[in-house]
Amino acid sequence: MKTHAQVVVIGGGIVGCSVLYHLTTLGWRDVVLCERKELTAGSTWHSAGAFHALNSDAAMSRLQAYGVGLYPKLQTLSGQDIGLHYTGGLAVAATKERWDLLRADVARHKTLGLDTRLVGPAEIRELCPIMDITDVFGAMYDPMEGHLDPSGATLAYAKAARQNGAEVYRHTRVVDLKPTGKGSWLVITEQGNIEAEHIVNAGGLWAREVGHMVGVELPLIPMEHHYLITEDLPELKNATRELPVVVDLDGEMYMRQERMGVLLGVYETPATPWAVRGTPWEYGDSELLPPDLERLTGALEKGFTRFPTLNAAGIRRIVNGPFTFTPDGNPLVGPVPGVPNYWAACGVMAGLCQGGGVGLVLATWMTTGEPDGDAYALDVARFGPYATKAYVLDKASEFYSRRFAIAYPNEYWPAGRPAKTSALYDRLRLRNAVHGVSYGLEYPLYFAPAGVPAAETPSLRRSNAFGPVGVECRAARGQAGVLDASSFSKYEFAGPGAEAALDRLFAAKLPALRRVKLTPMLAKSGRLMGDLTTIRVAPDRFLVFGSGYLQAWHMRWFTEHLPKRGVTVRNLSDDWGGIAIFGPKAREALAHLTTEDVSQAGFPFMAARMMDVGLCSALVARMSVTGELGFEIHAPQVYLRGIYDRLMLVAQDLGVIDVGMYALLSLRIEKGFGIWTREFSRDYTPMESGLARFIAYEKPSFIGRAAALKDRDTPPARQLVLLDVDALDADASFYEPIWRGEERVGFITSSAYGHTCGRSLAMGYVSAHSAQAGTPLEVTIVGDRRHCRVLAEPPVDPKGARMRA
Ligand SMILES: Cc1cc2nc3c(=O)[nH]c(=O)nc-3n(C[C@H](O)[C@H](O)[C@H](O)COP(=O)(O)OP(=O)(O)OC[C@H]3O[C@@H](n4cnc5c(N)ncnc54)[C@H](O)[C@@H]3O)c2cc1C
Repeated sequence: MKTHAQVVVIGGGIVGCSVLYHLTTLGWRDVVLCERKELTAGSTWHSAGAFHALNSDAAMSRLQAYGVGLYPKLQTLSGQDIGLHYTGGLAVAATKERWDLLRADVARHKTLGLDTRLVGPAEIRELCPIMDITDVFGAMYDPMEGHLDPSGATLAYAKAARQNGAEVYRHTRVVDLKPTGKGSWLVITEQGNIEAEHIVNAGGLWAREVGHMVGVELPLIPMEHHYLITEDLPELKNATRELPVVVDLDGEMYMRQERMGVLLGVYETPATPWAVRGTPWEYGDSELLPPDLERLTGALEKGFTRFPTLNAAGIRRIVNGPFTFTPDGNPLVGPVPGVPNYWAACGVMAGLCQGGGVGLVLATWMTTGEPDGDAYALDVARFGPYATKAYVLDKASEFYSRRFAIAYPNEYWPAGRPAKTSALYDRLRLRNAVHGVSYGLEYPLYFAPAGVPAAETPSLRRSNAFGPVGVECRAARGQAGVLDASSFSKYEFAGPGAEAALDRLFAAKLPALRRVKLTPMLAKSGRLMGDLTTIRVAPDRFLVFGSGYLQAWHMRWFTEHLPKRGVTVRNLSDDWGGIAIFGPKAREALAHLTTEDVSQAGFPFMAARMMDVGLCSALVARMSVTGELGFEIHAPQVYLRGIYDRLMLVAQDLGVIDVGMYALLSLRIEKGFGIWTREFSRDYTPMESGLARFIAYEKPSFIGRAAALKDRDTPPARQLVLLDVDALDADASFYEPIWRGEERVGFITSSAYGHTCGRSLAMGYVSAHSAQAGTPLEVTIVGDRRHCRVLAEPPVDPKGARMRA
């Protein structure tokens, strides 16, 4: 056994072996893997082995498509038979709503490069003669689905990695990890110690325990899961082709052929969490959990109805095995915040679908310093301290039991709520606010009319929120709107070295004293890393604002890139809240609460300063993403209610009303302003996204400068545009393809109905040749093509006069 290695991967399941393989393909050869028992001895060996690229999350779909497409190459490279069957797969819709969703998904898949298509009941029956199609609307067919031998695939990764120089130590449990004090780790194993520069936690069922070795609580939990395998079915004896993998989305089950029988797996409600207090080390390499058929009765009945032949079939085997889930079902990948050189590759719920992609993303990140594009959907830093063990238990159980539930773009699932509330929460609830949740924090989406239940109907089309949001938008542009803006993140940078440190961290010029500036951050690759707003409150003190859900992600980046001395960074997001007021009456309303001069001359656009607001000393900044005359009032949460109450006392006379985040998003799109995750992310560069105008290319040094200069000097192949869409009862959402004739020229990043201009608007990236104003294009919305055109300028106040008023 080696005593030194560049990387020690802990865990020889499908994920750890894929990470090992991908590290070697990217040139890191001094890598080893330690496995407690035999390879696959966690959840991998008892997996059902089905794979597909489909996922309700677009980023995950892209990643799964990579892994699924890699298997033939892996088989060839390693010489290991992996029992690969590309049978094709059907995702079946038995409700009209589900059918709409599949139509929307098929369109979205075009953007992702997936070759799926819709099939009708007759073709379904032809592909899968044992299925009852009486209530079936149709299905989505994916030729790249299938199944394989999970052990074969894991061994294939390990063999291919070994061929590239990696070493695999079986029966070598890692019992502890100690920092050496030199930035490396001492890996203490049952067979001896290894000093490693990097650790990868691919511990699967034991990932929590491998996290405890370095003092972190990773947000994942195992759940029990059953499938059964039938005896041979007479229908399959003389069949000329294998059955496709079938996912009955409304029946919450999946089925594939297993020799001459079938394997039927079910996601029952409620979920059964397993080993809540920790996975026992002695959980074996061949034992399984006792089946609990009683719990499954309802779920199995649905299976037997969909595949009636199973009623008469004998059961050969029942498997009940645990595998891990995270609160949102996506894996945990990347550098674990606060633990240098310790990487996560765990929480992988569908290792046969996702293992390849997770391996590639992590290996790219480790070897180049950043993932190739936006990996936020699987980044371990998307969760923060709110994701306690109790929260994870609630959310992951909910995810399991709603595994195939339709993920509506306007739906916020109920488990784990409310975890965090702003000081205004109760006040706003009394005013009939409908709340959404972000990073554990409740924030208002919109206000339902008095007497109407405060609940939004989940829908792929415009919901019951449409009317009330329209009222809020018109009031905001007519008089003013007040928003609980506590969900923004807030960071304080302070110290004699703060200016120099931020000047390197941000690609923009820093603001002058008591001024606000938009300060994008770039990664070394020149791609966007943040769309922050910075206020210099003192010569050596800055407050920086961003999207609330990015807190752990931002803080990891800050701490990785700030100098060790001269500057400190504090995350104030939970301690400070915010109230935004925007609209023509905003100034008048604020003036009632302060003795300060907030006139245009006394408090111009993009000014910021501490002032008394109501009874509280608050930081007030003159800015608004709505494009209106607007102010953001930031103060410790304990003062927020006092400020709000005084504001609302004057509001009534001025016609100022409460508004929610939906109104903000509609108003900002009327101005063509982008937001993070949608228009801005690690996928895009400043030139593509239009953020180039905020980049101070002339600064001698900032992170990503060399790549940013290259980006500036190369005409972008695609550009962010604002589109006017001839929508009917649904606006676009995310990732729908944009067409020019039959050529796919781009995709949607976000959309909203512009209530004050009376048009459905969308933003998206299109090829440069289609970005000219007036270009007639089409976009697929819930499966139907709609005409749209590129707008030359935003439909509301294109010169920005209102926000400067
Ligand atoms: C019944 C069932 C059916 C499933 N069906 C499918 C399916 O059809 N398709 C699909 O994609 N997924 C399926 N899954 C999920 C899939 O099995 C998991 O996503 C996958 O196995 C996760 O792989 P992993 O490598 O992350 O974890 P694991 O397989 O748990 O591997 C972790 C490994 O780490 C080792 N280890 C842990 N701690 C240490 C330590 N300290 N030192 C050394 N070694 C350590 C363990 O021994 C283990 O071998 C199914 C799961 C179950 C239970």
